Amino acid sequence: MSTLARGALKDGDMREAVIDTTAIADNVQHLRRLTNAEVIAVVKADGYGHGAVRSARAALAGGASRLGVADIGEALALRAAGIDAPVVAWLHAPGSTFLDAAAARVEVGISSLQQLRAAAAAADSQPVGVHLKVETGLGRNGIPPAAYGDVFAETARLEREGRIELVGLFSHLSNTSEADDRAALARFRVASEAAAAQGLRPRLRHIAASHAAIDLPEARLDAVRLGISIYGLSPFADRTSADLGLRPAMTLRASVAAVRRAPAGQGVSYGYLHRAPRETTLALVPLGYADGVPRNASQGGAVRIGDEVFPVAGRIAMDQFVVDVGDHPVAVGDTAVLFGDPATGAPPVEAWAASADTINYEIVTRIGPRVPRVEVHG
Ligand SMILES: *Cc1c(COP(=O)(O)O)cnc(C)c1O
Repeated sequence: MSTLARGALKDGDMREAVIDTTAIADNVQHLRRLTNAEVIAVVKADGYGHGAVRSARAALAGGASRLGVADIGEALALRAAGIDAPVVAWLHAPGSTFLDAAAARVEVGISSLQQLRAAAAAADSQPVGVHLKVETGLGRNGIPPAAYGDVFAETARLEREGRIELVGLFSHLSNTSEADDRAALARFRVASEAAAAQGLRPRLRHIAASHAAIDLPEARLDAVRLGISIYGLSPFADRTSADLGLRPAMTLRASVAAVRRAPAGQGVSYGYLHRAPRETTLALVPLGYADGVPRNASQGGAVRIGDEVFPVAGRIAMDQFVVDVGDHPVAVGDTAVLFGDPATGAPPVEAWAASADTINYEIVTRIGPRVPRVEVHG
């Protein structure tokens, strides 16, 4: 049954993001079959706004073998919730000692000799699991080619001493063009050979995030790091979730908080960006930019109420915005759906992203803490 068809919000609830964890599990299963690679499910940034712990559990149920996050703190939060699957964290504070990561058996992405030595120094009775990150053209972090020799030799030495375990060798693509990604992949092969020449045998070589995992089969290697796609959203501007066989997991909705009849000419919200062109009904939706509804989408945003889609009227404010519902019989307490799975009739999140001149990633990850996440299963 669709989340949209589940009817109204609970009494007293004004707004919610419904998270369908079955969709996440199904998306992972679909992508695992498609890629025929191990899935590292990326649950950074609170699972792209869906909730890191529930997303991690759903992804593991769907066949992911490992979790990926940016910060060690995010990995520790998964451990604190009782998740003991392998987790890798790849973005570290300057001078990080990795002691908390080592104690919690969190694997770390390593971009420099200095980080490698810090990770080795954090080892206790067990080696620290590391994934060496090599720079292949993205221009962010990662070991540069000039340092491969030193870092790989030191890795081999520290592995022999039992202070680290080399779990992976990885990099990240720019998705600029297929040619650019192929060039990065070629640089990755050079890195891989340089590592092998030092006797390194990383079990998992991984470079593809959702974009390349779906579109560039040769980039799938041993594992793929999937973020946006496990939440059912497309990494491509020109293909929808349905085109990719994915189901969006998040539905953002609210209860209409007020309804009033307004005369022609009535100004709406700050700055009177909108004036009612004729007598009409204005409905108040209690979600605003504090909740992640972009103020930039004041022109072009739309919500579904009942069987109709209505445009935002006037400025989106911090806590609320208004929609012009014409003469439709919209009532206080009706459910307004901002976005969800288009297969259920909900507007796609991409419509909001386009109105705000951004991408679906940014809309879902910025849904604010004031919006309760309500978990459903299929
Ligand atoms: C965020 C991130 C991913 C996931 O990217 P998607 O495009 O959401 O699949 C993969 N790898 C790294 C290094 C990342 O930072």
